[in-house]
Amino acid sequence: MTAKQYIETVLNEVKEKHAGKTEFIQAIEEFLPTLEAYLEDHTEIIEHNLLSLIVEPERLIQFRVPWQDDEGHWQVNRAYRVQYNSAIGPYKGGLRFHPSTNESIVRFLGFEQIFKNSLTGLPIGGGKGGSDFDPKGKSDAEVMRFCQSFMTEFQKHIGPDIDVPAGDIGVGGREIGYLFGQYKRINGFAAGVLTGKPVSSWGSLARTEATGYGLVYFVENALEDRNETFEDKTVVVSGSGNVSIYAIEKAQELGAKVVTCSDSSGYIYDAEGIDLALVKEIKEIRRGRIKEYLEQHPNAVYVEGESVWSLKEAYDIALPCATQNEIDAELAQQVIASGAKIVAEGANMPSDKAAIDLYKEHGVLHCPGKAANAGGVAVSALEMAQNSARLAWSFERVDNELKDIMKNIYYTCSKTAETYAEKDDLMSGANIAGFDRVVQTMLSQGLV
Ligand code: NDP
Repeated sequence: MTAKQYIETVLNEVKEKHAGKTEFIQAIEEFLPTLEAYLEDHTEIIEHNLLSLIVEPERLIQFRVPWQDDEGHWQVNRAYRVQYNSAIGPYKGGLRFHPSTNESIVRFLGFEQIFKNSLTGLPIGGGKGGSDFDPKGKSDAEVMRFCQSFMTEFQKHIGPDIDVPAGDIGVGGREIGYLFGQYKRINGFAAGVLTGKPVSSWGSLARTEATGYGLVYFVENALEDRNETFEDKTVVVSGSGNVSIYAIEKAQELGAKVVTCSDSSGYIYDAEGIDLALVKEIKEIRRGRIKEYLEQHPNAVYVEGESVWSLKEAYDIALPCATQNEIDAELAQQVIASGAKIVAEGANMPSDKAAIDLYKEHGVLHCPGKAANAGGVAVSALEMAQNSARLAWSFERVDNELKDIMKNIYYTCSKTAETYAEKDDLMSGANIAGFDRVVQTMLSQGLV
């Protein structure tokens, strides 16, 4: 069987088995075809049917989370954990609390996570999880009760050498703190069971910043490789959560002008440059909505109900940092028309397949999420290392490690792309390099 035929066979199997799981099928459809040239050189993967093995999670857990709201009503949410692949280390990947969370989304995120974690060069397998619980509009006490109930079941399935979750959409320091507290109550203190912990509970300095900073470091390397810098570049960012805030911070520090941020209700365009201290206050302290930005910056523009990617102003770099499938073909046309030369993904799978094809067609450098946003999980792995050693590294030390890791990821993707595709095809480079480390390890471990 040729590599192409093998890929088509496995793709069809996945489509048949998982009809209706749109995001999961999308992730597999984007991934498998990029492996063709690699598989032609590595026929042992085809002989051992490793694609069929790798698309199947080692374990998928689903459970209910009962909790009581402030009015005394009994509520229930559904939770998931996909323990996807442990070839190169304990399962590792975030928890998402968002009403849209379902099995398809958790599977797609878990699958992507395997190769992202592999690209970091650190010893972490792939997993992901979450719940359809929506922390928005809930009191602290409700969030705490939910997290405690979630962990009462979830603690059976995790451990510092088994599965080490972290945050994602809707799960930040507050939620991780409550989850950690409940794990500790049941099992005793085991710092290494979660990452992204508050610093006082053995969290790592720079973990909060890591995904956003890492994204910008990735782009900095891509720019440097083309004899350019962030200086005076205009940048458009979507979202106003953890990844967005620290991507804006680092891009501004490197001399760029960031003109937007957004939430699911609309976006802010501030031609003078985003006032990040205000965004942090609105989102991290008040837990408010991004339109509150206008109260202090009446000259900025707030566009209700529209995607930031419909912005018609000119800019150089697009950093989608909100959620999956935020850029489709129509919005990608606008991004290209606005002059963007780089689209670097802080979010997971924010561009759909048609959008990615358009970037390629128009010579826009596409930096795929599994490479460009790997800084978060990389620093999570550094948090695990610090916890094991019972040491706390300085911010500067963690940040320097992060810079090295992102540089290494960029050049690994770029060189792998040169070998198997084209230099600028970073998606193929990321997929192949991430896949290679995992499958070679799987082969060495036998059929398990
Ligand atoms: P946050 O919850 O901190 O922020 C998410 C932001 O995106 C919010 O501004 C939110 O707006 C917006 N958003 C979420 N869903 C939608 C939607 N359906 N439509 C429009 N806007 C939306 O999450 P993070 O910053 O942690 O995560 C953002 C992305 O980055 C996700 O794709 C995540 O998987 C990815 N990522 C995160 C990592 C991390 O370390 N946190 C690591 C690697 C990737 P609103 O408040 O209105 O919902």
